[in-house]
Amino acid sequence: MSKVWLVTGANSGFGRAFTEAAVAVGDVVVATARRPEALADLVTAHPDQVEAVALDVTDQARIDSVVADVVRRHGRIDVLVNNAGRTHVGAAEETTDGELRSLFDLHFFGPAALVRAVLPHMRERRSGAVVQMSSMGGQMTFPGFSAYCGTKFALEGFSDALAAEVAPLGIKVLIVEPGSFRTNLLGGATTSDQIADYADTVGPTRRAIAAGDGDQPGDPAKGVAAVLAALADVNTPLRL
Ligand code: NDP
Repeated sequence: MSKVWLVTGANSGFGRAFTEAAVAVGDVVVATARRPEALADLVTAHPDQVEAVALDVTDQARIDSVVADVVRRHGRIDVLVNNAGRTHVGAAEETTDGELRSLFDLHFFGPAALVRAVLPHMRERRSGAVVQMSSMGGQMTFPGFSAYCGTKFALEGFSDALAAEVAPLGIKVLIVEPGSFRTNLLGGATTSDQIADYADTVGPTRRAIAAGDGDQPGDPAKGVAAVLAALADVNTPLRL
């Protein structure tokens, strides 16, 4: 039986790759994005398998209504992929409280709200998988990445505890920790390095990110394929 996926940030990079990989194995994807019109080509190519739905993951009320609507129409959500994200590179001293909170809203509170919304349905059916897009920055730190790593470490702690909590209910939690892939992420926000004392530490990281010089550029679909294969029979917690 085909699965029903809900993917966040599905219009780009890994989110789009997750959507395409799920479609390739015959599954149905509720592909959510802030700009769902950017998914029109996938919807046109696979009208029975891809739905494009507007969702900003920092909008908790909208999360609840989207999840309720998907469950009402499809009867279930088998796979939640908490993928939406963005980069932030800058010295901790330069990073404002507002920037930190905004990144936590996106990488931590949004995914947590989605987990809260889908778990009652997965618990009822005693099956389901939550895929958490973390990062190697959820296990390792780099100068200039205090905000990004802080949010991804928080997501990993949440996800590890969640995995143990829901495993007896038949629900899997997969934590994905990509290295550096060429998506739109690498062109994302970098704060200025006005404070010269950080030029030797934060500076090289900022320049590498701005130039899109990932250490291991690769095809995001490889990671997706690994997740899909692992979903079949793995016990939680699993890191990819
Ligand atoms: P992309 O920039 O290509 O995709 C990010 C997606 O997140 C976009 O669709 C973007 O939408 C969406 N997004 C951003 N903010 C929101 C929001 N508030 N609500 C809903 N969607 C939002 O980057 P990636 O595909 O690389 O990133 C996906 C995930 O992978 C992220 O969590 C990232 O941290 C993680 N990752 C990526 C790595 C890499 O090297 N690329 C390495 C490690 C982890 P929009 O187009 O509207 O901005």
